[in-house]
Amino acid sequence: MTRLLLATRNAHKTREIGEILGADFEVIDLSTRPEIPETVESGTTFGENAIIKALAVSEKYDGLVVADDSGLEVDAMDGAPGVRSARYAGEKATDQQNIEKLLQELRDCAPSESDPRTARFRCVMVLARDGKFIRTVEGMVAGTIVEAPRGTGGFGYDPVFQPDGYDKTFGELAAETKNRISHRARAVQNLRAYLSAF
Ligand code: IMP
Repeated sequence: MTRLLLATRNAHKTREIGEILGADFEVIDLSTRPEIPETVESGTTFGENAIIKALAVSEKYDGLVVADDSGLEVDAMDGAPGVRSARYAGEKATDQQNIEKLLQELRDCAPSESDPRTARFRCVMVLARDGKFIRTVEGMVAGTIVEAPRGTGGFGYDPVFQPDGYDKTFGELAAETKNRISHRARAVQNLRAYLSAF
């Protein structure tokens, strides 16, 4: 069994990643390591932020570390909220506040029904050990932003993101469906393929 420390305190992410990796992996996260400090996500891209987190945590942990950075890119908003997805409506913003701000901004940028509301979730994962970079993997899922939130599943922007090929949002789809097609699922599948040959 391969043990991985995820550089996150987000229990939703840990559960999703653990479910996707499956039984060959033991996934723990920073909630088991309160002594490891929070990393400031000072990068301007998902990749930069993932590298910053992975290296900082792996300096303080003896074993394989995986850090991810992810977020939503909306085309009509020039890729916003992007790396600011978690704190789009402010440092301590709730998911609901972030969604409200997103829908408001999008109404301003794309006021008519014919304007595109295309978007994508992107996830970059970085594997590190002993403070050294090992590998980057990525995943992406394309979709559209719906007019009003639907569903209570998942987290973050899930209730307003409808993946291409589905008529339900991530907030409405079953967790198993999201875990098959999401940006994080695709990045984790790439990570698992790499680790299997490691
Ligand atoms: P991170 O924790 O720095 O990667 O921030 C990611 C932020 O992007 C989250 O707080 C959410 O707002 C958003 N996000 C990332 N992945 C998802 C997802 O699967 N569903 C909904 N929102 C997500």
